[in-house]
Amino acid sequence: MEIHRVTVTPLRSNCFILKSEGELVVIDPGGDPERILRRIDEFGGRVVAIVATHYHFDHTGAVEEIRSHYKAPFMIHENEVPFMKDTKADRLLIDGDEIACGAEVLQVIHTPGHTPGSICMLGDGFVITGDTLFQHGYGRTDFPGGSEEEMLHSLAKLEKILVAGMTVYPGHGLPFEVKV
Ligand SMILES: [Zn+2]
Repeated sequence: MEIHRVTVTPLRSNCFILKSEGELVVIDPGGDPERILRRIDEFGGRVVAIVATHYHFDHTGAVEEIRSHYKAPFMIHENEVPFMKDTKADRLLIDGDEIACGAEVLQVIHTPGHTPGSICMLGDGFVITGDTLFQHGYGRTDFPGGSEEEMLHSLAKLEKILVAGMTVYPGHGLPFEVKV
């Protein structure tokens, strides 16, 4: 799996473009659609899914542009729906769901806390964590629908999944490797 990072919006959100066997999955297109579109065209391939780790504008701001341009389905956890104003999902996700990308799959891990429908996505040797886990800490829990208690539970759930050597791709900041 090729994983490309495009930093978007003044909040410097990470949009990730995953590629396997000519298929692309776009994760968290938070803004600057023209830059994301340009990078997608550089990588080439067919966009098969657009996924948001949660419904915050700095992770979803360019969903409509990417969706209408590539006619690809937008996916988000079902618990985010009450917070979504103008955007409609094409597929609602729950814990354990799989999203195919070429020869590989991403497994959806429900990690509420930052928002009720925050998800992480587990691939082969890596995990995309949105605003749940960063290199130096975890996401804020004081936004609407946030919960410190749920966050701690989610972090404990992630800890069981993460193994040394795995790469974490957070929603902001640099990717990092899981230490022992
Ligand atoms: Zn957020």
